Amino acid sequence: MKVIKLRAGKERSLHKRHPWVFEGSIAKGSGDAGETVRMESHEGEFLAWGACSPASQIRVRAWSFEQAERIDAAFFARRIERAIAFRQRLAIDSDAVRLIHGEADGLPGLIVDRYGDTLCAQFLFAGVERWKPVIADALLAASGCVRLYERSDASVRDREGLGAVSGWLRLPAGDGGATAVAIREHGWQLTLDVAEGHKTGYYLDQRENRHLFAQWVRRFGCRRVFNGYSYTGGFTVAALAGGAEQVVSVDSSAPALVRATAHVALNGFDAARHEALDADVNATLRRFTQEGRRFDAIVLDPPKFAPSAAHAERAARAYKDINRLALVLLEPGGLLLTFSCSGGVSAELFHKIVAGAGLDAGADGYLLQRLEAAPDHPTTITFPEGEYLKGLAIVKA
Ligand code: SAH
Repeated sequence: MKVIKLRAGKERSLHKRHPWVFEGSIAKGSGDAGETVRMESHEGEFLAWGACSPASQIRVRAWSFEQAERIDAAFFARRIERAIAFRQRLAIDSDAVRLIHGEADGLPGLIVDRYGDTLCAQFLFAGVERWKPVIADALLAASGCVRLYERSDASVRDREGLGAVSGWLRLPAGDGGATAVAIREHGWQLTLDVAEGHKTGYYLDQRENRHLFAQWVRRFGCRRVFNGYSYTGGFTVAALAGGAEQVVSVDSSAPALVRATAHVALNGFDAARHEALDADVNATLRRFTQEGRRFDAIVLDPPKFAPSAAHAERAARAYKDINRLALVLLEPGGLLLTFSCSGGVSAELFHKIVAGAGLDAGADGYLLQRLEAAPDHPTTITFPEGEYLKGLAIVKA
């Protein structure tokens, strides 16, 4: 068993059960990609079992802080069963659920979403990459699913020195391997393609916020809705289900908009109530401002503007700009749902950015509710970095 010894005083974070060990904290020792290593303090005290990633700045991620625990197939089975048991207790109103959410589930770098009877997984760290066959078998056994598609094509794999991989990891004999799947969310019908969609195919983290949006659109009687960064139209379907008369979906991905349009029809809404715009959201908001258009509800769910804290300042300007325009376009009494999924922008900073946008727009608003990722995308008390999605529901004064 290889040992990695930390520099004096660098054991604090593992003592607090934070799973990451950075390159600069290590005094000596290393391991191969994904190899299990024993982490020790400078004094030789056991700290954790971890997996090594020689190519990454995050050199080790901890599997376990229990000295007696062995990192073997039974370990992965236990972690996966625990994660799935937690999801079952959440009683989520959908057959599409995030089963494994990386560090929060004690499986650093592993993301697994369940879409009906199909699993879609991302292996984003050398540790889970090394245990892939074991993890794949444990996932099928614990979930009861028989199909598992791999989407390990996220750019973070580059930092791990891992190339992009995608394709079926597990597929029963005789299954044609169709990658298009249908799911149900709050009674709505939605579709995705695990091979072609963003990430694992669909943004499950916004599930509860889409439900809240449908309820608010109905309660406030919102007629005209702008869905910015709509992807495949989850919030669009929510708005129509809430009784909106006219919804504009804006996204820069043409295939996503084709699917958004299909979702409108699939859920029985008149196509005339929906307009899909393949365009930049910022430019569209500006154009609508010039044209004097007004909306009763606006959703802004942009991609990650700040991948890390270092990008926070430029990202802050981009967030402020779209939120200012949205607050201009909203009617008084109108509803704004605005999000940031940037890990580098805290909830507090995001609130300040939106406050600044309000000042520039000459608009104030009631904070209806603070929003976060759905509970199947948990944050643990020891790993606050896991908190990424934050949002505000605002009613313009
Ligand atoms: N709200 C969506 C998820 C949004 S993900 C849901 O509930 O499913 C972010 C989306 O922003 C992606 O679909 C991406 O194609 C789109 N996007 C990225 N940059 C954009 C831009 N400048 N203008 C418009 N859309 C953009």
